[in-house]
Amino acid sequence: MIPARGYAAPDARSPLTPFQFERRDPGPRDVQLEILYCGVCHTDLHMARNDWSFSPYPLVPGHEIVGRVVRVGRDVKKFQPGDLAGVGTMVDSCRACVDCKDGYEQYCKVRGVLTYGSPEQDGKSFTQGGYSDSVVVDEHFVLKVPTNLDPAAVAPLLCAGITTYSPLRHWKVGPGQKVGVVGLGGLGHLGVKFALALGAHVTVFSHTDRKKQDALRLGAHEVVVSSKPEEMAAKANSLDFILDTVSAAHDVNAYLGLLRRDGHLVLVGFPAKPLEVAPVALLSRRASFSGSGTGGLPETQAMLDFCGKHGIVSDIELIPIQGINDAFDRLEKGDVKYRFVIDAKSLK
Ligand code: NAP
Ligand code: ZN
Repeated sequence: MIPARGYAAPDARSPLTPFQFERRDPGPRDVQLEILYCGVCHTDLHMARNDWSFSPYPLVPGHEIVGRVVRVGRDVKKFQPGDLAGVGTMVDSCRACVDCKDGYEQYCKVRGVLTYGSPEQDGKSFTQGGYSDSVVVDEHFVLKVPTNLDPAAVAPLLCAGITTYSPLRHWKVGPGQKVGVVGLGGLGHLGVKFALALGAHVTVFSHTDRKKQDALRLGAHEVVVSSKPEEMAAKANSLDFILDTVSAAHDVNAYLGLLRRDGHLVLVGFPAKPLEVAPVALLSRRASFSGSGTGGLPETQAMLDFCGKHGIVSDIELIPIQGINDAFDRLEKGDVKYRFVIDAKSLK
């Protein structure tokens, strides 16, 4: 076994504290990474606090990992020691069901293994995430990281990036389309960058006026403060596509009413409580309301390659691991521009 150091949530209410544990020795198809950077996703906060009622403890969060390959198993073909590599939200799946075969491993219902909080291969422990110094992952779930980008700012692409890229591609967002991005956080700001790169007209919906200038700096064409009814009314029946990234309970009907005929609203935010949908908001415009979860391995690699080509990375605030509890407090208040990334050097 490989000794590992990280920070773990001991239970749903306590701050994260230093934690020592073990990683498995790399098997024939495994890649061992020395973690360099790990993004702080709002999901980490939901999971640390047990918002969705399935968190095991102690829990080492983190599923936006960029690291350096230090060791590979004998059958590994894609990587060699020294390569820069990434790991996102999943580390294993059944590989045999229709979803896995189609490259949508994130929807595997047989044996989807999340990067943290899922049963480990030993059948006894749980997977532990990237708020740590190393990780061992089957090469199928390890991504090649473009070398022309800042690796710290690449880390958030492994979850926030693919989660926003995937629905934009699935719904074929492109030039001539009017896109709304709801919530300018980690996911939202990358959604803006991708929608712009795909050629869409982008309007950001933010619940206060604090992020207006940032949204415009990111390249958004328009900004609407969603708490101002007159600004929302001015956008009624105007959008082709809405990407809803909000982490907290909110009125989704207010956004469905902004869609044109045949428009789509895709939910990627994951509030802890169910959302209510008013039938009239959908049937009055033949609108569709759907959800989307991260992305499979082929699409995640395609997203990273797209980012390499278009120079897309996350706006980040680099923090030492010792700052993680303050970062969680600020994330809860929406006070982050636009992703905290842990510098794993601080664990040494
Ligand atoms: P984040 O950085 O905290 O951003 C969330 C944004 O939501 C905030 O910046 C804020 O934007 C808005 N918001 C927060 N509280 C609000 C409230 N009370 N009312 C209205 N708006 C509010 O979080 P994130 O990391 O982007 O994650 C967003 C959500 O996506 C989380 O629920 C996370 O678990 C989920 N997620 C889902 C997937 C998936 O596979 N579908 C993957 C990753 C994350 P404004 O200040 O601009 O309004
Ligand atoms: Zn995430």
